[in-house]
Amino acid sequence: MITRKLSAGDIIEARCTKCREVMNHRIVAMVGEKVVRVECNTCRGIHNYRQPAEAKVVIGGKSAGKAASKTVSPPRKTKKDPDIADKEEWESLLPSMQVDQAIMYEMNAKFKLNDLVQHTAFGIGLVTLIVKPNKMHVLFQGGKKLLRCGV
Ligand SMILES: [Zn+2]
Repeated sequence: MITRKLSAGDIIEARCTKCREVMNHRIVAMVGEKVVRVECNTCRGIHNYRQPAEAKVVIGGKSAGKAASKTVSPPRKTKKDPDIADKEEWESLLPSMQVDQAIMYEMNAKFKLNDLVQHTAFGIGLVTLIVKPNKMHVLFQGGKKLLRCGV
């Protein structure tokens, strides 16, 4: 009697979806020899059983997942930050922008305040500040950028 088969009613360790920790769980349902549903002894929540190895990935993957999403697309932001403020400002200005009059951005092109800029990477932007001698602030949908321009 070395190995003991699990059966409904047994207590096993599982990651609780509510407690978010590995807790003792009572087996509620099994399919063959596989545990499928467990009841948390701590919060009494019943949920699908997850393999402990899988749970480890979830715990350790918190920061890794964040870093991975960085390369794919900008993370969804819920709180107000400068980027969002810029985006909202840009969107509020969009209706008054005459997009067809936007000037293709070139490093040596001349711009003046309130000119529209068409940038290959950033899209349509509005010149908000000229920084002499040859730089300007441009408000794009993705935020303010400091770009080179002609004098
Ligand atoms: Zn629980």
